[in-house]
Formats: sequence, C-alpha cells, structure tokens
Amino acid sequence: MKSINPATGELIKEYSEMSEGQVKEVVDLNFEAWKGYRETSFAQRSQWMQKAAELLRSRREEYARLITAEMGKRIAESYSEVEKCAWVCEYYAENAEQMLVDELMESDATKSMAVFNPLGPVLAVMPWNFPFWQVFRFAAPALMAGNAGLLKHASNVQGCALAIEEVFRDAGFPENIFRTLVISSSKVEAVIAHPAVKAVTLTGSEYAGSQVASLAGKYLKKSVLELGGSDPFIVLADADLEKAAKVAVGSRMITSGQTCIAAKRFIVEQHVAAPFLEKVKALMEAYEPGDPGKEETSLAPLARPDLVDDIDNQVKKSVEQGAQIISGGSRVEGIGNYYSPTILTNVSRGMPVYMEETFGPVAVVLPVEDEKEAIEVANDSLYGLGASLWTSDLKKGEELARKIEAGAVFVNGLVKSDPRLPFGGIKNSGYGRELSGYGIKEFVNIKTVWIK
Ligand code: NDP
Repeated sequence: MKSINPATGELIKEYSEMSEGQVKEVVDLNFEAWKGYRETSFAQRSQWMQKAAELLRSRREEYARLITAEMGKRIAESYSEVEKCAWVCEYYAENAEQMLVDELMESDATKSMAVFNPLGPVLAVMPWNFPFWQVFRFAAPALMAGNAGLLKHASNVQGCALAIEEVFRDAGFPENIFRTLVISSSKVEAVIAHPAVKAVTLTGSEYAGSQVASLAGKYLKKSVLELGGSDPFIVLADADLEKAAKVAVGSRMITSGQTCIAAKRFIVEQHVAAPFLEKVKALMEAYEPGDPGKEETSLAPLARPDLVDDIDNQVKKSVEQGAQIISGGSRVEGIGNYYSPTILTNVSRGMPVYMEETFGPVAVVLPVEDEKEAIEVANDSLYGLGASLWTSDLKKGEELARKIEAGAVFVNGLVKSDPRLPFGGIKNSGYGRELSGYGIKEFVNIKTVWIK
C-alpha cells in the first residue's frame, strides 16, 4: 500500500499489507484486551483520553505534516484537524460518563432502567479526506463507552493510520485496545465476519457503504454509515449576500472540495442571483495552486490522480449537456493533482454535477423563483447530509430548516461537525449518528434492567 504525495507525485512510503493470519491475530488480541478494558472506570478512561488530547497537541506539527504529505490538504487545515481531534477527545473524556448514566424508567417493577454497556470491538472503515478527524470522532466516544477499536483506514493514508494507533498506545490505553489493520478493502469481510467484532462504522462513498452494510447484514452486525452529500446552500433574497458568498465559497473549498458536508449546490433566489454569482466568482478566482505545506498557499491538490479524473469527467459531461462554465472548468496543467476552482451555471436536473456528489472544487449556481422552489430544489437530491440556509428572517429560517431533507441544517452559518451536536445523514447519505450523546449510544447495548 503506497502513500504518494499528491502535490508532487513522489512516493513517500510503502506499507506491506497484513496477511489473513496477522489480521486474525490482531482482532483476537483486540478482543482479549477488551475483556479487561470493559471493566475500567470512566475516570480511568477519561484520564487516558485527556492524555491522548495532550499528545495530539504536543505532536501537532508532526501529525499535520503527515496529513498534508499523504493526502495533500493545506497545512493550516491539517493543524486545525489535529486540534479538533484533541477537542473531541476532551469532550468525551469530560462528558461520556454523564451521557451513559443509568436511565431510570417507570414500569411494573420496583426499579427499572436502561443501562448502557459496551459492545466489544468495533471496526471503523475510514476515508482519507480528514484522515485524523474521521477516526477520532469514532474512536473517542467508542473507547469512552468501553468498546475496543479496529481501524481499516484508506489505502493512501497508512502513515496516519499508524500514527493514530500510536496516540492511543502512548496515552496509556491498554495494549491492543485500539489497533490499525494495514489491509485493503478485500480483507474487510473477514474482519466483519470475525465473531469478536460486534459492529462496523464506515465513512466514505455510497458504493463502499453499501458493500460494507451488506456484509454487516450478512453477519448480523450493527452498522453506521456516513456517506456522501450534495449539500444545498440556499440564499434567500433578504440574506446578507457578502457574508453568504464568503461562507459558500469557504465551505466549497475546504480540503479542496473533498468534504462530504461542503456546500455543493448554491441555490439562490433569482432576484439576487447575479450579484451573488459575481461575489462568488471573485472569491473562487482568488485561489492559486501551490505547495500545500506552505501557509500562504490557497489551493491544494486533490488526494489522488483518479479523483481529478472523476471531477473533470463530471464537469465535462455536464458541459456537454448544456452547463456553462463561469470560472475554471479544467485540471491545472503540471505536476500534482490540482483542479481549478470551477463555477457552473445553466445546470439542470440529470447532469452529473446536479445528481452526483462532486468531490472537488466545483460549485453550481441554481437560480430559483422563490423560497418554495428553493426547498424543492434542495430536496431534489439522492443525498441528505447537511444544508445551509441564508436569510435575515430567523423565524422563516427556522421554519424552512424543518422542511429540508437533511441530517443537519445550519441557518446563516457553515455546516460543520461539532462534538456537541449529532452528525449524520438520511437518504443515500447514510444512517446512524456520530458525535454528541447520540453518537456514543450507537455502539452500546441499551440494556433493560427490571427488578421487583
Ligand atoms: P471509498 O468509499 O472507496 O473509501 C473509503 C473507505 O472505504 C476506504 O477505507 C476504502 O478502502 C474503503 N472501501 C472501499 N471499498 C470498500 C469495500 N468494497 N469494502 C470495504 N471497504 C471499502 O472512497 P474513495 O477514496 O474511492 O473516494 C471515492 C468517492 O467517495 C469520492 O469521490 C467521494 O464522492 C466519496 N467519499 C466520501 C467521503 C465522505 O466523507 N463522505 C470520504 C471519501 C470519499 P481503500 O482505500 O483501501 O479502498
């Protein structure tokens, strides 16, 4: 398995895949470790988790450089990612016990309640776009709940995968309680099938999600899926256009557009579409490709060459079907997987940029008659992850938020994941929730205890 620098095309390191026997051994060790770990107190786990946060902060430079080298995002984004991982560790270190406190309930018993027991080893199949954050947002609640963690990370970020294992080991967690499996996707079935593994969570594409969910069904394991999105960004006529344009472009361009919750479809009331487009164009055109390791760089490469091909094909096919290019519209010639920030108008239903997830710096602007049509277009998607809505009428914003088919709606703000709030999707964006009290309860046995 190869880590290749997306900015230069240079090979960073090769990792040899674990054999079937080695995988089995790691899963067995993980399960054995869990038998003792499940008995540890919240106070003890919390201490280890706080230490993990501390280590992340003290090694921020090293880990951020590793993220940028392996998947190419801007170094400033990698710093924030490592910082956010420290936050989620602290958040669950402080709150997990309260979240999982026994819940007393009235019944015909003298005492009845729900108690929340750990399940055991949980497999996480994770993507490369936030190679630290996606893992920590699973691992912090899962470990605090008393589960064990097994990580199958994306093939191109094995350095990050091993670094994460190191964080938990160095933080003092029991040996083998969190292990990285250096495997390609063909070996995932054997892990899900292993009787010790109790659940699986996947963040990634719909295809990978449906494959893993089928296996989870086959072996009767609980699953959570966080898949793609085609988030609407709705701008009503009474919105602060300046701010909306800035946030729309900022959202679209995070990680060079390789974010599930990026604003992908800018749905704008006709009346303000032209000035909004003008602002968006100026902002998008200010991005310049450069070395992602340098603080001043604004446009980083995509993680792999095939991802450039994918986004370029989506744009080309849409243009063949009548979409108009306002900016960009092609790969950046030269070394590295760069794609120019692109804006498309004249986009209609059926075009790839309307129907599919666009995982790169490509925004479409869809003018609509009124707020009713805005909601119809927003909901006209196979996906339902996040949505952003802009209006100066907060009451209307709240009312409309309820009508949008998504796992999260942010009014006058950027859609973002926050340890304190539930995160996840509906429709093809997946099922289950991560983060907050909802996330930690995905991987516990909600056990009824009835005492007469
Ligand atoms: P994938 O969904 O293929 O990869 C995500 C993870 O799933 C990786 O660890 C991958 O392993 C694993 N995986 C892939 N196929 C299987 C399988 N059949 N069984 C078990 N595990 C599997 O994403 P890609 O990297 O190919 O990206 C393709 C598209 O997916 C993007 O363009 C984007 O649309 C979407 N995506 C969405 C993400 C999100 O945050 N929601 C994140 C990443 C991608 P391996 O790397 O070894 O193949």
